[in-house]
Amino acid sequence: MQRETFDVIVIGGGVGGYPAAIRAAQRGKKVALIEAGLMGGTCLNRGCIPSKILIAEAELYHKIQHASDFGINAENVSFDFSKMEARKASLVTKIRKGLEGLIQANKIKVFKGYGKFTSPTEVEVIGTDNALLKAEKIIIATGSEPRNISAFPFDNEKIIDSTALLDLKKLPKSIAIIGGGVIGCEFASLYNILGVEVTICELLPSILPMEAKAVSQALTKNFKNRGINIFTGAEVKAVEKKGSGVEVKLGDGNSIKADIALIAVGRSMNTDKINLDKSGVKTDGKGNIPTNEEMQTNVPHIFAVGDIASKYWLAHVASHQGVVAADNACGHHARMHYEAIPSVIFTYPEIGTCGLSLEQAKEKGYDAQVGQFPFQALGKSQAINEPEGFAQIVVDKKTGQILGAQVVGYEASSLISEMVVAIANELTIECITDTIHAHPTLAESWLEAAYLAIDLPLHFPPKR
Ligand SMILES: Cc1cc2nc3c(=O)[nH]c(=O)nc-3n(C[C@H](O)[C@H](O)[C@H](O)COP(=O)(O)OP(=O)(O)OC[C@H]3O[C@@H](n4cnc5c(N)ncnc54)[C@H](O)[C@@H]3O)c2cc1C
Repeated sequence: MQRETFDVIVIGGGVGGYPAAIRAAQRGKKVALIEAGLMGGTCLNRGCIPSKILIAEAELYHKIQHASDFGINAENVSFDFSKMEARKASLVTKIRKGLEGLIQANKIKVFKGYGKFTSPTEVEVIGTDNALLKAEKIIIATGSEPRNISAFPFDNEKIIDSTALLDLKKLPKSIAIIGGGVIGCEFASLYNILGVEVTICELLPSILPMEAKAVSQALTKNFKNRGINIFTGAEVKAVEKKGSGVEVKLGDGNSIKADIALIAVGRSMNTDKINLDKSGVKTDGKGNIPTNEEMQTNVPHIFAVGDIASKYWLAHVASHQGVVAADNACGHHARMHYEAIPSVIFTYPEIGTCGLSLEQAKEKGYDAQVGQFPFQALGKSQAINEPEGFAQIVVDKKTGQILGAQVVGYEASSLISEMVVAIANELTIECITDTIHAHPTLAESWLEAAYLAIDLPLHFPPKR
């Protein structure tokens, strides 16, 4: 077996691990990156990127379907799902090749195989490459997998996870989605645009239960108007194959029939098979690895990043943690800050959030108020025929500090960035009202929401 010593070993080449490897290499270190599957991990191969490619295709189809609203004739519009799927697969491969080139350009030595600790400073690689690697610093970035629940185990044909759903070559006529969180709602929106009958079953009282009330209410209304069936407070007892489809049995005795069921009820952490006991690293008992702000585990020379080390399960959080961990592993000083984490949900319309919701701000004891401006009142929204949604800013009345922001509407994914900068830099509402926003743009919704938050609305009727 090959034996080699490195300065830094990174286990896992996902969106947490590869940025860590690149940063450590940039710092002049000799770096090994161990990847058991495809470089780029969940985000690139079976998460963010393939789902957003399909969503972009579906949205274009939706736009063309509504071309007559713009005075454009585009009759008999149709799509070929197999071509959309093929485009997705080819783009993912292209991006992965680019990433592999980048890793090579940074002179990172890649080991293809599964990495397991044999001691606190050694990792054995088993797979295409077989090696025993040693390093003074190790970064664990092994990510997560869709959680398999025993009451409805995946059969990868009718009862499937998000990975299998992204690989479907043919659309079903109907789909039952178990779990109304981010992944469940993104697929519900996508499949609804493509003409599939969608039913969501969510245990909690609303879909997107972790989001601000105004946000989950807006999406619920939108989904219902689009014909998406939503069962909330719905305990799913079993999902069984029935005839050529599935039957979802609910706790109240009702059942839902569909061609396939997507199980989107959380993720399990890839920390149970890497011999953590031999490293000395402790988990919280649920597979997550606690870290400090420097991303160090309880064993100071071992760092953990990404889904296994965060409650956020977001690609950009994983990446940032990777860079912070690598900097610290290389003797530089960096810290993670979690006050201004943007979160985007790629439904149609999109949702972008950052910081506190009004409810959270009040729970934390702030005397908070919200300024909410509807997209309908924006010239640009009317011009592009995207009048649905709103932008809202949560403000501390005492200091004027911006505590949080939520936007539901077209291009919310880009719009939220302005508020991320504001919240990360502890800006006050006057910083937004003093900033000239270009006209006509969707970003004016922030200016108008800010005016509303200080009770000086410009393009909105005054309070009586
Ligand atoms: C359908 C879907 C859509 C998503 N969309 C978004 C989105 O739009 N925006 C967003 O921010 N986030 C999104 N996410 C979440 C995002 O993908 C994850 O938060 C992110 O991938 C986590 O990165 P990671 O590096 O921790 O783990 P991963 O990306 O899972 O990477 C871990 C890597 O480690 C490898 N590995 C595991 N164990 C070992 C081992 N022992 N040895 C060697 N290699 C190992 C795995 O093969 C994998 O490649 C989505 C997720 C899903 C499922």
